[in-house]
Amino acid sequence: MITDAQSAARVMERCEALGRTSEEPDLLARPYGSQAMRRANDTVAGWMREAGMGVQSDVFGNLLGRYEGIGNETLLLGSHLDTVRDAGKYDGPLGVLVALACVERLQERNERLPFAVEVVAFADEEGLRFGTTFLGSSVFAGSFDPGLLGLEGADGVTLAEAVRSFGGDPDALVDGGRDGDDLLGYCEVHIEQGPVLERLDLPVGVVTGIQGQTRASVDFVGEAGHAGTVPMEGRRDALCAAAEFVLAVEETARGQPGMVATVGHIAAHPGAGNVIPGEVSLSLDLRHGDDRVRERAVASLRETARGIAADRGGENRWQLRQESSAVPTDPGLTALLARAVADLGYRVERLPSGAGHDAAQLAEIAPTAMLFVRCEKGISHNPAESVEQEDVAVAIEVTSRFLKLVEESRG
Ligand SMILES: [Zn+2]
Repeated sequence: MITDAQSAARVMERCEALGRTSEEPDLLARPYGSQAMRRANDTVAGWMREAGMGVQSDVFGNLLGRYEGIGNETLLLGSHLDTVRDAGKYDGPLGVLVALACVERLQERNERLPFAVEVVAFADEEGLRFGTTFLGSSVFAGSFDPGLLGLEGADGVTLAEAVRSFGGDPDALVDGGRDGDDLLGYCEVHIEQGPVLERLDLPVGVVTGIQGQTRASVDFVGEAGHAGTVPMEGRRDALCAAAEFVLAVEETARGQPGMVATVGHIAAHPGAGNVIPGEVSLSLDLRHGDDRVRERAVASLRETARGIAADRGGENRWQLRQESSAVPTDPGLTALLARAVADLGYRVERLPSGAGHDAAQLAEIAPTAMLFVRCEKGISHNPAESVEQEDVAVAIEVTSRFLKLVEESRG
């Protein structure tokens, strides 16, 4: 009988193997539809078959392994196999391989659950090739936007062509969703990508939901002038206005539990050392788990920006770039996941996800739950991404226990 430690060691080896499966020689990059993606899918498909699973690809190239149960219902487990450029080895693959490890444990005991366990490996979550995220899971969830088919990657290949050459069918993507009638739920294991679990010295945490997000471009317009000859009195310095605003953004987020807000980009025009900035453009990214709280904060910051500009005799322009609603995980399924963590003797830490995940798409067709695994210093999207084998063992145990609890909850 294979132990949890051996099972975790195997997951770590497989993460290493997939970490070498790259489109570029000196760094890890596995974009959708690439040769490396093909090799990764083939490799994982082989492991799935060895675990007694029936394997198929859908019309997009998402890989599906199914371990049959006694009944017709299905529990989905999984994550994504594509990566960002210069990626780490665990963001995505860890969730697929922990799911596979749980199936291997069932197969080893010759055990069939009252439902099938389907392991899904999404083929495009990061959006490296076409600059748009969650393509794989949006097809799977039946929410694919056909307007994206004409998108071109840097190599001039369109999404439609890439889907076709990856063995998929671009014309079938809109109706290519997985029928959700038999689905009991979807559970995704993923590295935390943040420092909270490490700070609390916990191997895993239970995700409460994926935070809603507002992104906006904010411009302050004042008046450019000579840095030497225009007196301080009466200046309309757009960068000073922007600076006040940046600190107001920080104060807003600090004053609201669970909120994060960032000004990540700022440009001053004309951008010369001896010229008073006449115009400044900055980016705002604000996230919270409660849409009303987020909307209130954004409205208030918009008011603040107007006020700062007016006080300084300037103007403010505000352009909404992107807005996505919060996606809470399913309370019932999440309670079972939390119980699985508690049953193994760990304190249950509930935390939101500031990053987007395939689970947000899957929530449209099934109840979802997510388990975060501690990662070193919270680093991700970076070759320095690192997880401990012991923590992976805990993730396997928790997910296996979760399968049992789902079984019992149906009884
Ligand atoms: Zn990911």
